[in-house]
Amino acid sequence: MTDFKPKYSAWELVKRAWQGDRPWARAWAQVPPKSGYQVVIIGGGAHGLATAYYLARDQGIRDIAVIEKGWLGGGNTGRNTTIIRSDYFLEASARLKEKALQMWEGLSRELNFNLMVSQRGYVDLAHSDGEMEAFVLRANAMRLRGSDAQILDLEALQRRVPQLNIDPMARFPIAGALVQERGGTVRHDAVAWAYARAASAQGVHIIEHCPVTGFEKTGDRIQTVITEKGPIDADHVVVSVAGHSSELARMAGFDLPLESIAVQAFVSEPVKPALDVVVNFNAGLAYVSQTDKGELVMGGGTEGYNSYASRGSLPRIEETAARVIEMFPFAAKLRLMRQWGGIADIAMDGNAIMGPSPVANLTLNAGWGYAGFKATPAVGWALAHSLAKGTPHPLIAPFALARFQSGALIDDGGAGPSPYLH
Ligand SMILES: Cc1cc2nc3c(=O)[nH]c(=O)nc-3n(C[C@H](O)[C@H](O)[C@H](O)COP(=O)(O)OP(=O)(O)OC[C@H]3O[C@@H](n4cnc5c(N)ncnc54)[C@H](O)[C@@H]3O)c2cc1C
Repeated sequence: MTDFKPKYSAWELVKRAWQGDRPWARAWAQVPPKSGYQVVIIGGGAHGLATAYYLARDQGIRDIAVIEKGWLGGGNTGRNTTIIRSDYFLEASARLKEKALQMWEGLSRELNFNLMVSQRGYVDLAHSDGEMEAFVLRANAMRLRGSDAQILDLEALQRRVPQLNIDPMARFPIAGALVQERGGTVRHDAVAWAYARAASAQGVHIIEHCPVTGFEKTGDRIQTVITEKGPIDADHVVVSVAGHSSELARMAGFDLPLESIAVQAFVSEPVKPALDVVVNFNAGLAYVSQTDKGELVMGGGTEGYNSYASRGSLPRIEETAARVIEMFPFAAKLRLMRQWGGIADIAMDGNAIMGPSPVANLTLNAGWGYAGFKATPAVGWALAHSLAKGTPHPLIAPFALARFQSGALIDDGGAGPSPYLH
């Protein structure tokens, strides 16, 4: 018997079966960090990566590092329920989200990456005449700003979403809906990958598995960002770390008016196409859409306590599932497949904090709660503009930290049924 020496290990064989002899090219370059950069962006989620991309593309600033403690998109970017829409009532929120929605509409082509932008429609359910009145007000405001909105009575709603349970004897009978047909979903992690590839092509350094652990300051400026891969000097620092903003702020020597709370989502087993629209239940938050794979994706409210544990509790799953089944009784037959959580940083008015911080060369992008994915392109674009010009772009100026001193809050929560969520 001759000794058989296989040419490839089992692992190599599997890899080659997928890739052929030519391994796939890396989508973004893997580089060791330099000793310093003009701009260091902390957080390799979609927001941080988009900011880097627009800084390089529009503002000619290419000496940038994006520092990510884990893998790109492994934070809330890859954990969200992928909903995009701009159906907000208050001016500041609506303008930013509408800008983002317009950008989503051309982004796959621009980044040459299929982001699976699906403008399948977003249906917000009202359960009382009072809620319908608030919806009419919101729809009018949206239309006056040039966005799209429709008010559906029960009959029209039944035609739009035939599977919906509109039984008047339901526990929370449905009165009608506000529909934004341009709302829908976008493949979340593709957004991180696409921005990373495009930013890397412009010379941005993307450094993964590199937690930031502290800052060295000179006076009121950050001199050096301390990371697990060594110190990195920075002319300017952007903190874009979603559920960990308070930790980074504390490292930089100030506090933020944010609470960190777990939010979870879950999916059912995959089934044939059953739901071609995103639907939000307002009598207690629950929302649902169907992925291209066939799973129903469901989300609800936050957990009721502060935590950095990225998981949620069973009672919240039960509560959300009960609401989804009330909307769509067929969902009762489905089994849940998996569940996950993310950490949402939430300010008292439920809105983001963007712009200058108490540290002279540190810009904040925080407090997005569980509503920031939809804003990604506009946030990156307007933050890049603000950094380059040294003054907040009008789209983000209202979201300044200073509003908690001046009292100029952006209270979307108070402006109608849960419009600031997810
Ligand atoms: C369950 C759930 C559902 C949601 N659904 C929706 C939705 O349908 N629509 C919507 O618009 N929004 C939704 N959101 C909110 C949305 O996901 C976030 O607002 C958005 O993804 C924030 O983007 P980001 O890039 O700032 O955050 P992230 O993707 O979290 O990026 C921040 C990154 O910072 C990194 N980081 C943290 N600390 C450090 C450190 N010390 N050093 C280096 N890196 C660090 C993290 O690892 C992370 O990758 C949801 C959120 C959750 C949790």
